[in-house]
Amino acid sequence: MRHPERILLVEDNDQNRELFEFLLEEAGYEIVSAPDAVSAREAFNAELPDLVLMDMSLPGIHGLDLVREIRGLPGGSDVPVIAVTALAMRGDKEKFLAGGCDGYIAKPIEPAAFVSEVERFLPPDPSGARAV
Ligand code: MN
Repeated sequence: MRHPERILLVEDNDQNRELFEFLLEEAGYEIVSAPDAVSAREAFNAELPDLVLMDMSLPGIHGLDLVREIRGLPGGSDVPVIAVTALAMRGDKEKFLAGGCDGYIAKPIEPAAFVSEVERFLPPDPSGARAV
């Protein structure tokens, strides 16, 4: 049996992190949470995630700079990275995509739609089974 897909969640806001964790764990995913860039790097290097959810405003670093770093780590070029942040300005979404993200989910998230939005970016399961 395939292990549940592992999602690395990089988010410094406790309330958001707990909400995203709750929704994704309830849907059967294994969540590794990182509140800052240091723990995100450590978690990424410890075990390659199947997907990264990345807040763009992190303490001391812009999310896109961390995305660039992750892209340079072993395995980092193939992992889907989704920016999760409030759209500050028109054109930000394009900036995130041009900066190495595969997709974008706007905050505040819609709890009922969040998991399926994330799943759009997960690589297909080779066994054909979904994590439940
Ligand atoms: Mn933040």
